Amino acid sequence: MGTAFNATTDGALRSWVDVPDGSDFPIQNMPLGIIARACESPRVGVAIGDSVLDLAVVAEAGLLDDALPGARAILTCGTLNAFLARGRAAWSAVRARLSMLLAAGNEELRGVPGLTERALYPRTQARMHLPFEVGDYVDFYSSIEHATNLGRLFRPGAEPLMPNYRHIPIGYHGRSSTIVVSGTPIVRPNGQRRPDPQQPPLFGPSGALDIELEVGFVTGPGNALGMPILSSSAREHIYGMVLVNDWSARDIQAWEYQPLGPFLGKSFATSISPWVVSLDALEPFRVEGPRQEPEPLPYLRTSGAWNYAISLRVELQSAQMARSGHAPLTLSQPSFQGMYWNMAQQLAHATANGAVVRPGDLFASGTVSEAKPNFGSLIELTWRGTHPIVLPDGTQRVFLEDGDTVRLLGHAGGDGVPRIGFGEVSGRIVEARV
Ligand code: CA
Repeated sequence: MGTAFNATTDGALRSWVDVPDGSDFPIQNMPLGIIARACESPRVGVAIGDSVLDLAVVAEAGLLDDALPGARAILTCGTLNAFLARGRAAWSAVRARLSMLLAAGNEELRGVPGLTERALYPRTQARMHLPFEVGDYVDFYSSIEHATNLGRLFRPGAEPLMPNYRHIPIGYHGRSSTIVVSGTPIVRPNGQRRPDPQQPPLFGPSGALDIELEVGFVTGPGNALGMPILSSSAREHIYGMVLVNDWSARDIQAWEYQPLGPFLGKSFATSISPWVVSLDALEPFRVEGPRQEPEPLPYLRTSGAWNYAISLRVELQSAQMARSGHAPLTLSQPSFQGMYWNMAQQLAHATANGAVVRPGDLFASGTVSEAKPNFGSLIELTWRGTHPIVLPDGTQRVFLEDGDTVRLLGHAGGDGVPRIGFGEVSGRIVEARV
């Protein structure tokens, strides 16, 4: 499975829509999201430069029917799920058609009177909705650096990696109902914790609110009950990727997690970026993953490059920093490319028992960490509070305070090749409710 030439990723391709230098959304990207303007109903849109193209309007003009039979119904939906259900052939056909319609020299959209006036408008005017209705949500633990760091922090003196780590992609089922789109305020969770092991547990606002920098993939058609998705057919089932901030309350988590694992310390909120970047757009950035030793069992073996060279960034800005004019502070800049377990292995593993995957299921990578200081969580960055982060205004952080805004960004390419960006996923912490 080599990197096939694909006209839609050709670096020479240009759009007739203005794309500023350094934009996350050149014509080679074309991520899909759910947009709405003013009192419009939410519908499918594509980001191009600083603009969005309303695909419901384009479909109603009949310009997408050949690529996607039933385009009007599918693209006027307020979620991507119906589109995701159509599968890879449809995904690639729509991408090829959009690439053609947006390419410099193509006049089809502009040839329909009034169409571009209605369909193409500044991205700042688009209200972004959750891009797909999340069915099931799985969160993995695929960064061996992250798993090693947490092992060192929580089990000092012991072997940091559990004996199963190099044999199975570790994960758990999360809560889909609290997956929210970027920009949604994050209410500090209340919960039970036991800060002093000599005293009874307490109930109240978490004092250890953390982030987890992750990348998630969203699935397409899915499988029948009892029929695993083989790693060799994972590409038929994975449409694309989003940035994920898996907010975590470490104090609630620490008290509740044994023996059944993450629960209320995780389920209060998970934020995702609004634009779904397709695997097709990321095709030029596939890279080999790290060598897996021991070799995984046959059902977990993959052929071809299944890791992706995506540069990530975590930024934090407190309310006081914003008031005093301090720009957000970059905390960390890990790459996604070194993840130990890849997406094909994760999907094969999650369905190895015959469990069903449906269109719009979300599978998150787990916290992305590399070597120090490029860690994807505050608990690692502050080494469990022993090395507080000093903000530009002189205040310190171990965990998040009310009013803090965290922004995760990601992109592949740039520096002479088309930049395939994810935009951002951000969230501001607001005080706990009584
Ligand atoms: Ca996580």
